[in-house]
Amino acid sequence: MSQTIQAVLDSVRTKLRAADIESFSIDAQLIVSEALGVDKIKLVTHNTDEISDDKLNIIKEYTARRLKREPMQYILGRCEFMGLDFKVDRNTLIPRADTENLVEEAINIIKEKGYRNVLDIGTGSGAIAVSIGKYTAAEVTAVDISKAALSIAEENARQNNVYVNFIESDLFANVKGSFDMIVSNPPYIERAVIDTLDSQVKDHEPLSALDGGEDGLDFYRRITADLHRFLKKKGCIIFEIGYNQGYALYDMLVKNNFRNISVKKDLAGMDRVVTGYIS
Ligand code: GLN
Repeated sequence: MSQTIQAVLDSVRTKLRAADIESFSIDAQLIVSEALGVDKIKLVTHNTDEISDDKLNIIKEYTARRLKREPMQYILGRCEFMGLDFKVDRNTLIPRADTENLVEEAINIIKEKGYRNVLDIGTGSGAIAVSIGKYTAAEVTAVDISKAALSIAEENARQNNVYVNFIESDLFANVKGSFDMIVSNPPYIERAVIDTLDSQVKDHEPLSALDGGEDGLDFYRRITADLHRFLKKKGCIIFEIGYNQGYALYDMLVKNNFRNISVKKDLAGMDRVVTGYIS
C-alpha cells in the first residue's frame, strides 16, 4: 500500500525518536528528502504526494542505518565545512565544526605572513587542505597513510575546483621539500577514552583517525620530531589539539625550540589550536 510523504516522515521521525536520536526531526527530513531527491521544502509543499515502493525501500535502508547510530553525514555521503561541500565515507573522519577554528587561524597566518606553501599531515577527507587551497593563494600539499581517504580527498579537491598535491605517506615518509606552514589535525584521543565516546563516533568513524596512543600525544611527538627538517625559516606549525592538551603541546614545542607559541581556545572555551614558529 502506498503512503504519503507526510505519513512516511511521521513514521521515520517516530522511530528515530524512540531510539533516542536527539536530532530525530531534522534527520527524518534529511532521510526522506535525500531518498526522494527533492529539497526539504518540498516535503511540506507536497506532503500529500505518494511515495513509490522503490523510494520507500531506500528510506527504510537509511532509517535502519540511522537507528544503528550511523552519522547522517555517512548516510548522505557528504557534509559541509568552511562553506564548502565535502564528500565523506567511512574511511574519513567527518570534518568537525571545531576544526574550522584551526583552518581560520591557518588562513589568517598564511595571509598575514605571505606564506607560499603549506603541508597538511593526515588530510583524511581533505577538508583542511581544500579549504586552505580555496581561501588562500598558497600551494597546498597533503599527505595521508590511507589510500582510501586520499581518493575521497582527491574528489573533494576536484569538486571544489582546488589543486592540492596529494601524496600517500606515513607522516613525512614520502614528503620532499620544505614548507612555510605545516598544519595537522592528527588522531589525538587517549586510547582509554575511545571506549567512552558516543557510539556514533566509536562504532562508525575510522579509529585510525582518532586513536592518539596511550596519552593521545603520539602523533604530535612523531610530527614535532621532524618539523625542523620540513619547515622553512620563520615557518609555522599549527595543530588542532584536544580540549586538555594545551599545556602538553606548549611544553613539547618549547622543548623543540619553537618560539611565539600560543594556545587558542574554541567557542566552548576549550584548548583547540596551538601555533609555534621556528626562527
Ligand atoms: N575532535 C574529534 C572528536 O572529538 C577527534 C579528532 C581527532 O582525534 N583528531 O571526535
